[in-house]
Amino acid sequence: MTNKLYETITGYLLLLVALANQGCNNVPAKDTKDFDLVILNGRVIDPESGLDDIRNIGIKEGSVYLITKKPITGLTSINARDLVVAPGFIDIHQHGQDHENYTYKVMDGVTTALELEMGTDDVDRWYSDREGRALINHGVTVGHVKLRMKIMNDPGGFAPVSDAVYRPAAEEEILLLKEGIRHGLDRGALGVGFGLMYTPAASKWEILEMFRIAGQTKAPCYVHIRYAGQKEPNSCIAALEEVISASFLTGAPLHVVHVTSMGFRLTPLMLQMIAEARSQGLNVTVECYPYTATQTTIESAVYDEGWQESFGITYNDLQWAVTGERLNEKSFAEYRKSGGMVIAHSISEDVVKSTITDPKVIIASDGILSEGRGHPRGTGSFARVLGKYVREEKLLSLPEGIRKITLMPAQRLEEIAPGMKNKGRIRVGADADITIFDPDLIIDQATYEEPAKFSAGIEFVLVNGVVVVNNGRLYDNNFPGTGVRGIIK
Ligand SMILES: [Zn+2]
Repeated sequence: MTNKLYETITGYLLLLVALANQGCNNVPAKDTKDFDLVILNGRVIDPESGLDDIRNIGIKEGSVYLITKKPITGLTSINARDLVVAPGFIDIHQHGQDHENYTYKVMDGVTTALELEMGTDDVDRWYSDREGRALINHGVTVGHVKLRMKIMNDPGGFAPVSDAVYRPAAEEEILLLKEGIRHGLDRGALGVGFGLMYTPAASKWEILEMFRIAGQTKAPCYVHIRYAGQKEPNSCIAALEEVISASFLTGAPLHVVHVTSMGFRLTPLMLQMIAEARSQGLNVTVECYPYTATQTTIESAVYDEGWQESFGITYNDLQWAVTGERLNEKSFAEYRKSGGMVIAHSISEDVVKSTITDPKVIIASDGILSEGRGHPRGTGSFARVLGKYVREEKLLSLPEGIRKITLMPAQRLEEIAPGMKNKGRIRVGADADITIFDPDLIIDQATYEEPAKFSAGIEFVLVNGVVVVNNGRLYDNNFPGTGVRGIIK
């Protein structure tokens, strides 16, 4: 018997046993240690089935095995009385993909963090670098920006700074880019990432050529669009038209990243365009982060001539991530030469509120923390949604807030990565990625001045059935995270 067949048969048997257990309400619970772990008396919220009630959950071999009102026992147990038991949060926009970042993610309730916008130029190496060494689940796209940097020998880091920004691709370079994207998708990348604002010399035809490769296998394209703000002709509206059109022409599903930091006060118009595209049958999704400031590298093309007019801000709205200082004309020029992360206070609270409450908007962090410095969105986004916007401001119900950070991101990914059908839900057979939090206490604590602060109220987190946060304390010497990957051809 092949391993695969064995696994399949075992899987069916486990499922049958689980179904039998679930169905037999009047069979007394076995008092032996039936489960590896049980979560008792928690308020279980599952956004897919609509379950929102007190349940016990039995976990075995990394999966949810039983959800019941009846008493159950396990080798270990978690008392979740007065706590909410939710699917582990899924962050579909997380750049920081190392141990430091994973610790902050998990303390913000995240069990799966995906780098979909920038991606990588080497999918196999990206996954093998993290295998057996990751606190949480992780995954990546093949990135147009990263491939362009590699093919054009651009010395940049997070974002390109040289030829990949300013030089149009030659015909043979476009062929290499297409080949790179095709290879990445063949190796199980989660789609194709684009940062069009970081590669302004990439022609619209070049981008269309990339979308065509994605469209052949219906691989989603996750795009930071070409322009932000209101200044025509290079407005966020024109930029969104470009990618909606590319999606229509090629059949590639489209995901628009961090919409509020592209649209600013025009964000409602962008959301209207996305709704219209969807009503025409296009597969378009959108995300935002729950903050009023953006962050990127100051030396990137984002801060090329004209940024003040486009974004409607000036030097004093910029904050240097390393020191927290506000900038002026002189310090801006100096830091643009030396390079580094800059925060821009450019989004109004009204725009944040109207966007996160739009039912089609997924919430993701766009996070990256480096030696404790960065934007608080990298460490507090998810607790902030549930603490500030659900509990304090009552803009969203708790199940709706949870849906935006669990089921919706899972659904965006599940066509390209069928494993995502077992994440973002609490149901029998789902992966035991579970976040248990105190709904009265959950809140972000990270600030622009002190981003490296764990969120409060995250009491227990399980990744593939392994407890990595226990009574609010991080156990960071376990590495139960696995790679979320598309089908390898
Ligand atoms: Zn971006």
